[in-house]
Amino acid sequence: MDAKSPTLSLPAQPREFGFHVGGRWIATGSRETMVRLSPGHDVPVTRITLCTRKDLDNAVAVARKTFDSRVWSGISGAERATVLLKAAAGIRARAEELAYWETLETGKPISQSRAEIEGAAGIYEYGAGAARCLHGDSFNNLGDKLFGIVTREPVGVVGLITPWNFPFFILAERIPFMLAAGCTIVAKPSEMTSATTLIMAEILTDAGLPEGVFNVVSGTGPEIGQAMTEHMGIDQVSFTGSTAVGRHALLASAGNFKKVGLELGGKSPQVVFADANLDDAADGVVFGICHNAGQCCVSGSRLIVEKSVAAEFEKLLVDKFARVRIGDPLDPRTQLGAIVSAAHNEKILGYIRKGSEEGARLACGGESVASKAGRFIHPTLLADVTNHMVVAREEIFGPVLAMITFETREEAIELANDNAYGLAASVWTSDLDKALGTIRRIQAGRTWINTTITGGPEMPIGGFKQSGIGRDTGMYGVEEYMEVKSIHIALGARDHWVS
Ligand code: NDP
Repeated sequence: MDAKSPTLSLPAQPREFGFHVGGRWIATGSRETMVRLSPGHDVPVTRITLCTRKDLDNAVAVARKTFDSRVWSGISGAERATVLLKAAAGIRARAEELAYWETLETGKPISQSRAEIEGAAGIYEYGAGAARCLHGDSFNNLGDKLFGIVTREPVGVVGLITPWNFPFFILAERIPFMLAAGCTIVAKPSEMTSATTLIMAEILTDAGLPEGVFNVVSGTGPEIGQAMTEHMGIDQVSFTGSTAVGRHALLASAGNFKKVGLELGGKSPQVVFADANLDDAADGVVFGICHNAGQCCVSGSRLIVEKSVAAEFEKLLVDKFARVRIGDPLDPRTQLGAIVSAAHNEKILGYIRKGSEEGARLACGGESVASKAGRFIHPTLLADVTNHMVVAREEIFGPVLAMITFETREEAIELANDNAYGLAASVWTSDLDKALGTIRRIQAGRTWINTTITGGPEMPIGGFKQSGIGRDTGMYGVEEYMEVKSIHIALGARDHWVS
């Protein structure tokens, strides 16, 4: 499909799923449901089951029993790889369906959804490879009478809580790694965007994943999400979302000291030096804040630009922002889609007002796009921002860029690090010494030089400081879902302790 393919039409009625536990669909029955309106059209698109605490308990019991049965944890990496490769093929076979529902629930452009689904299939393929590469270590240096082996074992039952901004892609950044490790999973997608997680459960079952390994319980965060973090039957929680709820999840997990993986918010700097290719840098900065309408944990939302080129750079940005194609998420030409909800839209507009109140200058944007339905915000550039303003400190999670200037490299590094978050950062310069010298001192887990928001499943993701705990993807991502065990083996006759 390319940008010339026709605009898709809306569903005639909302699709109802039920939920998926033990390898089969469970009908909604008498449970309450929630109807999701497409953020770009205000049309009902899905009806999601609000599962109960009992449904969660049942799903956790199924995941536990399945884990203990060793039907997944006890098989070879090669066998796990076979299932993961089939899952990748299953995603590709249903790519258009997945992209359609992803766009309808999130409001993101269909071209972006298609790219994310294709990217996700590749991550499952990486997971297949990872399953076959798992190994431990040995210690032959403990003396002639002792030999050491270090092995890795799956953690057990993982509770997977995912957000609404990249429902399918974030899922793909977690599931293949958990499955490669040998864990079983109970997933709870955001209640706003559950469709593609539910479809994934079916794809995994069709790929031959034993029943009970991957289970989905749909529902709200305060009800099901909270219960998952507190659940004594869950060994690890993987949470992606806001820092506020992440902190809450960390505290709630203390009951059974479950392992906690957190990928949280960010206020990621884009440091642009005067010697950068400014046209490339401007393109990257515009992409970095418009991608997913800025509702992206690694959005480059804080532009830190060298003062000598700030005016020129601002002009480039304003020109490029004006050319970003905003519109119907189902239109393949659209680059910037809808804001996920009315409440979030209001929150973003509130931040823009706050910026003006604090003395920032509105260089472009700043308002909603006039549209018959849905909510869209013009890409917004707030200039003359200082690092202590709220718009420079807090995550806005919309297409709003705060522009700050610097005069020396030391100042740029100081500004970049002067924030509670440490999720991502980009540096733009034609001087490799300057690029590496700067990036090595910026406190962030995912960084780029002369590019932004790109990568592959080989590379780990995760944050420093209040942006999270732990790493996903890459071999680091598999290790995240494993416990390390040391095995000490005595060799030869024992020197008795009791004489
Ligand atoms: P939340 O952190 O509230 O939601 C993320 C996930 O956690 C969702 O599945 C949500 O469920 C669930 N959840 C909500 N409350 C609890 C709880 N008490 N215990 C356990 N899980 C819970 O993010 P929002 O969706 O409300 O977005 C708010 C802000 O979070 C954004 O403006 C942005 O700043 C940030 N954010 C960051 C993301 C990232 O990728 N780092 C992703 C999304 C948001 P449900 O949605 O069903 O309530």
